[in-house]
Amino acid sequence: MNLNLDNKVILVSGGAKGIGEAITRTIAAEGGIPIIIDPSLELGHKLVEELTSKKQKAHLIPLRLLEPQHAEEAVEKTIGKFGSIDGVVNNAGANDGIGLEYGSPQAFRKSVENNLGHYYDLVHYALPHLKSSKGSIVNISSKTAVTGQGNTSGYTAAKGAQLSLTREWAVELLPYGIRVNAVIPAEVMTPLYQKWLDTFEQPDQKLALIQNRIPFGNRMTTAQEIADTVVFLLSDRSSHTTGQHIYVDGGYTHLDRAIGRE
Ligand code: NAP
Repeated sequence: MNLNLDNKVILVSGGAKGIGEAITRTIAAEGGIPIIIDPSLELGHKLVEELTSKKQKAHLIPLRLLEPQHAEEAVEKTIGKFGSIDGVVNNAGANDGIGLEYGSPQAFRKSVENNLGHYYDLVHYALPHLKSSKGSIVNISSKTAVTGQGNTSGYTAAKGAQLSLTREWAVELLPYGIRVNAVIPAEVMTPLYQKWLDTFEQPDQKLALIQNRIPFGNRMTTAQEIADTVVFLLSDRSSHTTGQHIYVDGGYTHLDRAIGRE
């Protein structure tokens, strides 16, 4: 299937590592131009070099999106170099473990701001360009938004709000022909996931327990499986899909976790 992504310019926050890296690689492989917005300077440069050596296109904007002006800068730099924006993938985030009992009101606010603020900022500043291109927006949320996880109030509040904003923006942007969807991963091995696993006394046992509960194949979802769905939603092959929350999780969130077990 040709996804018609040739030379489409797509912003990918956190595009140098983990799920974002897989999204970057997949956009580039489909002929698009991923704009990696990520503070990981060395990894980001390496990735761009690797992709360009394969005659693919990619560009790095080494930035951590913290304040609105960072998103504004990323959009301005992209327009300065490429002249258009065809899509936004809001992906950057961190499960920072700010709980209710052991957190603080200040840390909670900071976590929500860090995980949610730049989702709004990037789309806000990219909007005039998305209107011109009738672009597509994909928000990466998390299973924790609908199941909870415990001890991570800020992160889950932000992830839930990303699902609400997906519906809200899908409605607001209908007149412009801009589609907005969310992809919801559950368990994907990435640097962020490994960091979370390492907070347990026996990470290997915890991982085995989780994998055993994932109905489809008793395994983690790969970053590539997330990226393939994201790239489909960016493409005009999903031209009548908007306002959707799509779970790419081997059935972990919705199917009976006793399936396939003794
Ligand atoms: P990851 O391995 O930590 O990669 C995320 C990348 O984003 C890193 O390079 C990180 O840089 C960068 N980043 C973080 N905050 C940023 C910001 N404000 N501005 C720009 N770049 C930023 O994470 P991941 O596991 O791939 O997660 C990606 C997304 O998937 C997140 O939204 C996460 O909530 C969601 N998700 C992941 C899983 C999973 O199982 N992995 C499950 C559910 C949802 P630094 O490392 O320098 O901070």
